[in-house]
Amino acid sequence: MNAAHLYSIWPKNPAAHLYEVSLTVETPDPNGQVFEMPAWIPGSYMIRDYAKHVVSIRAESDGCAVNLRKLTKSSWQADAVNRPITVVAEVYGYDQSVRGAHLDTTHAYFNGSCVFLSVAGQEDRSCVLAIRPPEAPVGKDWRVATSMRREGAEPYGFGDYVADDYAELIDHPVEIGQLSIGEFNVNGIPHAIAIRGQSRIDIARVCHDLQIICEQQMSLLGAPEDLDRYLFLLDAPGSGYGGLEHRWSSSLVCERDKLPLRSDTDISNGYRTFLGLVSHEYFHLWNIKRMKPATFTPYDLSSEVHTGLLWVFEGITSYYDDLALVRSGLISPESYLELLGQTITRVLRGAGRLRQSVEESSFDAWTKFYKQDANASNAIVSYYAKGALIALSLDLKLRQETHGKTTLDDVMKVCWDRWGQSGVGMPEDGLEAVCEEVSGLDLTDFFDASVRGTGELPLKKLLGYCGIKYQLRQANGSDDKGGKPGNKTDTPGPWLGASLIQRDSRSVFAAVYNDGPAELAGVAPGDVAVALDGIALTAENAARRLKTYRDKDTLELVVFRGDELLSMRVKLELAPKNTCYLQIKSDTDEKADSRRNAWLHAN
Ligand SMILES: [Zn+2]
Repeated sequence: MNAAHLYSIWPKNPAAHLYEVSLTVETPDPNGQVFEMPAWIPGSYMIRDYAKHVVSIRAESDGCAVNLRKLTKSSWQADAVNRPITVVAEVYGYDQSVRGAHLDTTHAYFNGSCVFLSVAGQEDRSCVLAIRPPEAPVGKDWRVATSMRREGAEPYGFGDYVADDYAELIDHPVEIGQLSIGEFNVNGIPHAIAIRGQSRIDIARVCHDLQIICEQQMSLLGAPEDLDRYLFLLDAPGSGYGGLEHRWSSSLVCERDKLPLRSDTDISNGYRTFLGLVSHEYFHLWNIKRMKPATFTPYDLSSEVHTGLLWVFEGITSYYDDLALVRSGLISPESYLELLGQTITRVLRGAGRLRQSVEESSFDAWTKFYKQDANASNAIVSYYAKGALIALSLDLKLRQETHGKTTLDDVMKVCWDRWGQSGVGMPEDGLEAVCEEVSGLDLTDFFDASVRGTGELPLKKLLGYCGIKYQLRQANGSDDKGGKPGNKTDTPGPWLGASLIQRDSRSVFAAVYNDGPAELAGVAPGDVAVALDGIALTAENAARRLKTYRDKDTLELVVFRGDELLSMRVKLELAPKNTCYLQIKSDTDEKADSRRNAWLHAN
């Protein structure tokens, strides 16, 4: 058997945010071993060039220094040696996101993609990782939370861990610090959540609710053969939100105040958002971590890898995340419809949906979705939000046209059987083919319009089939996310067609919508609002002030562009009706009720 690669990581200088990472290769390439750092991390489609965080690097063999030559931005080659070689690097970790590595005197968190070199040509060898504690007094109460298999380390302890190959090594994020840990079982499989920070969170309740969500998700596609454990790593700071999926774990960030305290009993909007995040990352253990696009098998971590299918892997996941909350009974159908109304609103508010298809959005994720500029709402569409609505449309369309015989659940089961455990990825036309195969329908027009094109989705009709009324109204202020009927006594005024946000105590036009009053008047993104109609205009007072005007009122608008004061005439317009809310029809028939129940209470 080939010797394992021996890795170690040590929080060498927490105050300076420096890890020392070492790697010993038993049988290096006799022509000079090449070592590489990933340029990106699976699940986050942007080139991040993690090698830039390598502060110093050296190699040695048999106690003698070996020369290392930089080959590319992310790779090094050692001089040829015929004995084991050890590379030692200092790596800076001060990125407190789920995609990064972070180290300070309060904790350590890292993704392997950010700190571990791969051994070119020997990526398939097993890896042993020694996780070493920092020097006292730092780290006195620290525990280690990772889904990596222990080999010698005590549960939640420092010591040796093991992975089958490099791809697995970097798929287990590690959190080290003062942790609150809760454990539960899902279909007999041990699950845990390790929470950094705030200990007043009601961890028993969180475990209870997570178990319900995981059981719901597992009832759809069943437990993968290699799923023998699962870990949620949760960072709960004062602000922040996000998640990243892995095969046996996920990293989550959710602001502390969204999580339930021991005295709380209801599901607040913030907690509902957190449960949706958990549900989303957990669903990924099937949809992207095991079943993935063919172009991702295996991942090429040195440069962009394109697929038109991110809408399948993120959009369908975004559909099933909130759906699992209502199907499991954690939230009511009304609460689910509020979330759905908010998603529809997000999509409707971006005219970019009329310019870019979700297939294009998927392909260009690297340079567009992950690198959004002020024109994003005019130019691009989210493959998450619109992808979720395509999944919804597809599910309801299949149900309607097959009279309830075929659903998206059936499609996902066939996809999972075909591409989930085989190691062969889904081809670019895979989902569409399975939809047609399972339902017997010709769905070309639907995919042409919704996926490859920029057609509006037939949501009104499809939701109506389930006894749900699709309604649109004008937005009422910048914090109106939709999902609820507006306040009838408080009619919104005309709009400027731009988003005004508070930035460094100034009110700045962040996005300017194509063909809206602000753009027609000459406002540009980045302009600082000064006055409208002779009175100060701010992000805070804009909605209130606009209510006092009428459609087509023409006013003086004054802005700063850089240090130049500009005055322009703006002709107000009625705000578009792009805020959606959904309601169960009171006069619905029994058939519609039973269709809705079959959809929202499946399994
Ligand atoms: Zn996702």
